Amino acid sequence: MRAASALETARRVRAGEIPADRPLEEALARAREADAGPRGIHAFLSLSDSGANSHPEPASGPPPNSDSRDAREPGSAADDGDPDLTLAGVPVAVKDNLCTLELPTTCASRFLEGYRSPYEATVVRRLRARGGRVVGKTNLDEFGMGSSTENSAFGPTRNPRDPSRVPGGSSGGSAAAVAAGVVPCALGSDTGGSVRQPAALCGVVGVKPTYGRVSRYGLVAFASSLDQVGTFGASVADAALLLEAISGHDPRDSTSAPLPAPDLMGHLDDGVAGKVVGIPVEYVPDSLDPEIRARMDEASRHLAEAGAEIRRVSLPHTRYAVPTYYVLATAEASSNLARYDGVRFGVRSPEARATQEVYEASRTRGFGPEVVRRIILGTFGLSAGYHDQYYGRAQRVRALIARDFRRVWADGVDVLLTPTSPTPAFPLGERSDDPVSMYLSDIFTVTANLAGIPAVSVPAGTTHGLPCGAQLLAPAWHEAPLLAAARTLEQSLGGGA
Ligand code: GLN
Repeated sequence: MRAASALETARRVRAGEIPADRPLEEALARAREADAGPRGIHAFLSLSDSGANSHPEPASGPPPNSDSRDAREPGSAADDGDPDLTLAGVPVAVKDNLCTLELPTTCASRFLEGYRSPYEATVVRRLRARGGRVVGKTNLDEFGMGSSTENSAFGPTRNPRDPSRVPGGSSGGSAAAVAAGVVPCALGSDTGGSVRQPAALCGVVGVKPTYGRVSRYGLVAFASSLDQVGTFGASVADAALLLEAISGHDPRDSTSAPLPAPDLMGHLDDGVAGKVVGIPVEYVPDSLDPEIRARMDEASRHLAEAGAEIRRVSLPHTRYAVPTYYVLATAEASSNLARYDGVRFGVRSPEARATQEVYEASRTRGFGPEVVRRIILGTFGLSAGYHDQYYGRAQRVRALIARDFRRVWADGVDVLLTPTSPTPAFPLGERSDDPVSMYLSDIFTVTANLAGIPAVSVPAGTTHGLPCGAQLLAPAWHEAPLLAAARTLEQSLGGGA
């Protein structure tokens, strides 16, 4: 049996109709079943036993500055109908680059195999404070670098809709766990599309919020100016419920905006009547797969029938987005990953003697080929003599890409509609030897990260018998109208019951 919706689970637990631990136990059983055997989807790298969720804090107590809702004991008030327990008893899967106390945090890297974090990510603390339960840690491309989950050091995840195909990535484990019905919602991270693209390829909802909306404290850094924690849901409502629970200012993340969590659930049914939906011509090129184009035409028709005005718009710098993203993301990654030196974290080569040897041998042993490729690229892009030509120029183009969006919003557009991915889920192994074709999977998603704006992928039917996602984008801090538009689309396609 598939997981009940997060909304329904929380309501039943709060009303005392089911014990608070039961949904977690059932999710654990489903997770074991889904991952078992050679055809198993391998969504999880580790699973919580039910005891692991009852001690969210280390023995020394919560860290200073925790806000009051963080300090709530999860589960303690789960049966008395406390309306703050919006996730009462809800089983949630957590991407394994988010720090948790009980389970290892590996980033699917040999470097961090078995690594235990001494603290917990703010988003995990917040979901527990709302009564949510961590089911386990999900598979990903090593450190979030990839679009297929094949770059995991612990083996790929399979797409539940077709196990011979990838689930997308890098948050492929979280997307697959939701698509397989193990959990109603999950956490991922999105640096260039890693929540939206796997959501599209697996046929679920994936949201990347505005940069600064959600705390990055305890999210292992890949490219800090692009990284945001995002949510997956079997429906827009479940993805929104989890996003609302984890949003809001966090004094432990200096890039978190001093804004309260938005009211997303209260606006889900606002619809799109009177809104202007823009379709950027650069996102529907002549080369676009005709089946994807047909799904986009249907989606825009549904939005028009719901009362939106559809308008063609242009974002002229879109064609520079993928190279700009890969220059910036690799530059930031090369700097962030310098901390893995064989001394402070994870593996240390036993053969190494001198200091330099420790660094070299540990990094050679600990990192997979894609991570090494990105460190080399990023170091080159930042090096003396090349810095301005690559990193500096990419920063300037990033500003132009963000300006394209601001101009469209200033012209009265409320949301943009695009495809999420240029192709449906591809066969395992198909792009492993061709990094550039893998990078091009991100062509429609990286712009939202470069501009810092919120975006969501919603299931929009199938192409070639596989799930197809429609992406909606909105101005910064406009998650509520964005998700209302997503919900309209979902309902017009018969989803989100
Ligand atoms: N696929 C992109 C990359 O490989 C995005 C990854 C992500 O969003 N974490 O960088």
